Amino acid sequence: MSAVPDHAAIEARDAADPLRHMRDRFVLPQGVIYLDGNSLGAAPKSAFAELDKAAREEWADGLIRSWNRAGWFELAEQLGDSVGRLIGAAAGETVVCDTTSVNIYKALHAALWLRPERSVIVAEGGSFPTDIYMAEGVAATRPGVTIRLEGVDAPAIEDLIDEQVAVVLVNHVNYKSGELCDMAALTRKAHEAGAVIIWDLCHSAGALPVDLDGANADFAVGCTYKYLNGGPGAPAFIYAAKRHHEHIRQPLTGWWGHAKPFAFEQGYQAGSGIRRFLCGTQPILSLRALKGALDVWDDVDMTLLRQKSIALTDLFIELVEARCSEYGVTLVGPREGARRGSQVSFAHQNAYEIMQALIDRGVIGDFRAPNVMRFGFTPLYVGYRDVWDAVAILHDILKTGSWKQERFAVRAAVT
Ligand SMILES: *Cc1c(COP(=O)(O)O)cnc(C)c1O
Repeated sequence: MSAVPDHAAIEARDAADPLRHMRDRFVLPQGVIYLDGNSLGAAPKSAFAELDKAAREEWADGLIRSWNRAGWFELAEQLGDSVGRLIGAAAGETVVCDTTSVNIYKALHAALWLRPERSVIVAEGGSFPTDIYMAEGVAATRPGVTIRLEGVDAPAIEDLIDEQVAVVLVNHVNYKSGELCDMAALTRKAHEAGAVIIWDLCHSAGALPVDLDGANADFAVGCTYKYLNGGPGAPAFIYAAKRHHEHIRQPLTGWWGHAKPFAFEQGYQAGSGIRRFLCGTQPILSLRALKGALDVWDDVDMTLLRQKSIALTDLFIELVEARCSEYGVTLVGPREGARRGSQVSFAHQNAYEIMQALIDRGVIGDFRAPNVMRFGFTPLYVGYRDVWDAVAILHDILKTGSWKQERFAVRAAVT
C-alpha cells in the first residue's frame, strides 16, 4: 500500500484539478466544508440570476403574458431535455415535474398497466423509504398486486424476479451505503423475465454518468435538488423510453397532461409523448431556479466529474481509515471506487453526536438512522484540501471526545 498523501500532495492535486474553476459558479459560506450536496446541492450563482429575472421581469411585469412570451408553458419539457442529456436520455424522453415520490407513483402505475397479466412489484428493502411507501400506496389501489422486497423476501433482488413480476423499482445508488447498482445488467435481468424496470436516480443524476437509453431502461425518476443543485424542493423528473410513449397510461390525469389543455374539453385524453406525465400547473419560479442550475452542466465533462468523484471518495476513505479507525469508525458500503456513487458512509455508535460536532465545526454532512454518518462529495465544488481538512476535524473531535457535549445529543427534526 502507498503512504497516506501529505499536505503538499493534496495541494498539488487541487492545483491540477480540471474542475477546480467550477467552484466559482457556486455561492458557499465562508468557513464551511460542504459534504451534503447529496441531500441539498449548493446554490449556483446562475440560479439567482434566473430567479430574479423570472420574478421581477416575467412575473411582475409580464404577468399572465409570460406563459407564452417567456416560455413558461414549455419549461417542464425544456428542462427535462437538459436533465436528459445528463442521464443518457434522447430529447423528448424526460420531463421535469412534481416530486420524486409522485413520479414513482405515476411510473409504477404506468408499468403495471404495461403488464396487465402480472401482479408483483419488486423493490429493495433497503431502498430510500419513500420508494417502498409509494409502492404500498400503489398496491393498495390495485387488488391482487403484491410487493416483494430484497433483503426481506430474498437476499438478492435478482432472485425475486420471475414471470409474475410486472415491475422492478430500484435505486441506482443506495442513499445510505452509496453502493452503485449495475444498471445494464439488472435491466437485462428484468427484461429476460418480461418485467419493466424503473430506476430511481436521486443519487446518481449529476453524480456520475448515467446511460438510460444505452441500458435499455423503461422508466426513471429522480430529484433535482441533490447533485443537480436545483434548490430546496426543486421539481423532480421522470423519464420514459420512447418505445413506451404511446402505450403509457398514468393515474394522475390532470389537465397539463391532456392532449389539448386549452380546449377545455370534457373528458381526459392523454397528450402525446412524455408530456402525458404532467398533471397540473408547474412551479415556474422553482423551475427557473433549476434552469439556472442546469446551465452550469453545459461546461461539465462527466468523465472528468466521475474521475474526480472517485478520487475524492477514495482519498476520504484512505484518510479516515488511517486516522480515525482506532475510535471505532467503520466503512459502510463499497471500497471499490467503481461500485460507489459520490458519497461515503461511516458507521459509529455515536454517529449522530459526532455529526453534530462536525457541523458545529463547519463540516456539514448528515446522519442516517441508526448509526451512519454520510458524506457527499460533489466534484463541482469540493476539493482535495476540503477532504483533508474535514478528516483533520473529524480526527480532532474523536480524539478529544468533544462530541460528548450534551448539546450534540439533541435530536433535530431533519437529520
Ligand atoms: C431523496 C430521495 C427521494 C426524495 O423523494 P421526494 O419525493 O423528492 O422527497 C426519493 N428517492 C430517493 C432514492 C432519494 O434519495
